[in-house]
Amino acid sequence: MSLLWIQGGRVIDPAAKRDAKGDVFVADGKFVRSLTPAQKKRARRLDARGLAVCPGLVDIHVHFREPGQTHKETIATGAQAAAAGGFTTVVCMPNTAPPADNAGTVELINNAAKAAVVRVYPTGCITAGMKGQQLAPHGSLKKAGVVALTDDGLCVQSNELMRRAVEYARMFDLTVLDHCQDDSLTHGAVMNEGAMSTRLGLRGWPHAAEDIIVARNIILSAYSGAHIHMQHISSAMSVELLRRAKKDGVNVTGEATPHHIALTDAALHDYDTNLKMNPPLRTEADRRAIIAGLRDGTLDCIGTDHAPHAADEKDREFDFAPNGIIGLETALPVCLEVLVRKNRFKLPQVIDLMTRRAAELLKLPAGTLAAGAPGDVCLFDPDETWTYDATKGFSKSRNSPWHGQKLTGRVKATVVGGKVVFENGRIA
Ligand SMILES: [Zn+2]
Ligand SMILES: [Zn+2]
Repeated sequence: MSLLWIQGGRVIDPAAKRDAKGDVFVADGKFVRSLTPAQKKRARRLDARGLAVCPGLVDIHVHFREPGQTHKETIATGAQAAAAGGFTTVVCMPNTAPPADNAGTVELINNAAKAAVVRVYPTGCITAGMKGQQLAPHGSLKKAGVVALTDDGLCVQSNELMRRAVEYARMFDLTVLDHCQDDSLTHGAVMNEGAMSTRLGLRGWPHAAEDIIVARNIILSAYSGAHIHMQHISSAMSVELLRRAKKDGVNVTGEATPHHIALTDAALHDYDTNLKMNPPLRTEADRRAIIAGLRDGTLDCIGTDHAPHAADEKDREFDFAPNGIIGLETALPVCLEVLVRKNRFKLPQVIDLMTRRAAELLKLPAGTLAAGAPGDVCLFDPDETWTYDATKGFSKSRNSPWHGQKLTGRVKATVVGGKVVFENGRIA
């Protein structure tokens, strides 16, 4: 029997309202309340003095590029980046090549996931080929093991098709995750539409394009009862729409990315393509509204939208560079900086957004240190300052705006099912 004894850390388990110095024990892959004296003698020990010990982080929004673009990331390297960032459970998006719109591709992903160092769950497409024209086979996707449906990267434009999608998804007990973007408002757009896009002479993506789809999804959810989750909310108005909908009891949820709470379009002054993403960075007022949404529960979780791209693709004119940045290895320190140090969130609230609440949205077996739950743990030093070097990270790609910057808060060890998979900067 494999035994693990994590000693003397600040144990934070928001699901149990636990925040106290103590020990955590794992036996045979699951948390247990204690070990017998004989077991303690045999157990592997991790010294957690001075560290925070929390459930392994959960990210319901990553892109691992397998199959099809494995020069950017594979499930194996993406999972290593996750482990290095303290994540033990991740949900990968289906916009691979080919897209995961059929059981065969999902099986391929699930097979690669078996060998990964963290738990990787697949999603399936809402529509065939993510073309937004006809539904993908939701029933066989569910049988193949997807945990949600999404056309992330794209947004189903037809309201009629989206209505049928959420009604089918509900029959199969699957949540629809939506990338909210009205395409008719964003043709050729590469950044937020506003004073900054005018100054830089770049085509703007107005927040109205997100707000319209968020409103559409709220209406469809209210009408059908189906759960719709809004991915990477970037606009103040979208936060307010969600707040009102939740007050009315509509079954909608939302997520925020670390980059949308840390950065604004003001950072684009030198056309750095590592600040180009979709939805784009917006204004300070939007950034503040997203933080307020996380504070009052309007937004339910943090999702990184980890989106690896090769250097030669990002190293182009701003207009032509692909959207997206990597985020798994920097998410925790960025959230600690923005939410805890700058906005006075309590540490357990931030951990809650990155563990229990993310897991609950998709009913994943993760996000708590409770006895009987899978023994997944993140150990981090909330106060250690270090310099993030994306070229030395575990992701295959390096497209991070935090490359070369000092970050505070560092993951020291990551445990999956009682097994130490990352420790002191190395994958075990
Ligand atoms: Zn997206
Ligand atoms: Zn995405």
